[in-house]
Amino acid sequence: MSNIIKLTFNPFQENTYIIYDDSKECIIIDPGCYDASEKSFLSAKIKELGLKPVRLLNTHCHLDHIFGNAYVAKTYNLPLEIHKGEIPVLEAFLPTSLGYGITNVEASPLPGRFIEEGTSICFGETTLKTLLTPGHSPASICFYNEKDSYVIAGDVLFYEGIGRTDLPGGDYQTLLNSINTELFLLPDNTIVYPGHGIKTTIGHEKVHNPFLS
Ligand SMILES: [Zn+2]
Ligand SMILES: [Zn+2]
Repeated sequence: MSNIIKLTFNPFQENTYIIYDDSKECIIIDPGCYDASEKSFLSAKIKELGLKPVRLLNTHCHLDHIFGNAYVAKTYNLPLEIHKGEIPVLEAFLPTSLGYGITNVEASPLPGRFIEEGTSICFGETTLKTLLTPGHSPASICFYNEKDSYVIAGDVLFYEGIGRTDLPGGDYQTLLNSINTELFLLPDNTIVYPGHGIKTTIGHEKVHNPFLS
């Protein structure tokens, strides 16, 4: 049984997830910790729970999801793992930050390992399956835990909402297709942990999501 901690960071109110199990190994997905106090908060949480971070993953590389990549990679000596198709987004990190008037960010490390559709993410006693769900960004991925019935959805699907598609590499029809052919094939009781806002379920979104009915 894995446990999920949600920490909400940075001016974009992005959800960073720590997933761990009884082995005490944990993975960190989309570290959005932005300033020194948010970075300390993340580390304090990991220490408090006695966890050992073993992987650093990004669902996609928009700035709000990767502000803390450098900190986590350095502090825990972890390679960054992303889908290859997100490299252009990763490369745009510093210029995009400047565009928002954000100047005090630390460049993300380059990926040390690539994740593909279907890749199993294993740590401790837990396995997550990688789903390829483009549309919000060119190669957004989601991480699905079949055993514990949840999916880490990045900015693909939100509580009664979907990710924006007006950023470079975004496409509305592609996003709807990703949700319909990947996420909506998961069981209705699957809990969706999104990149922003509160959690939901696949069953709830099938009925109540105004973009997908
Ligand atoms: Zn995004
Ligand atoms: Zn986001």
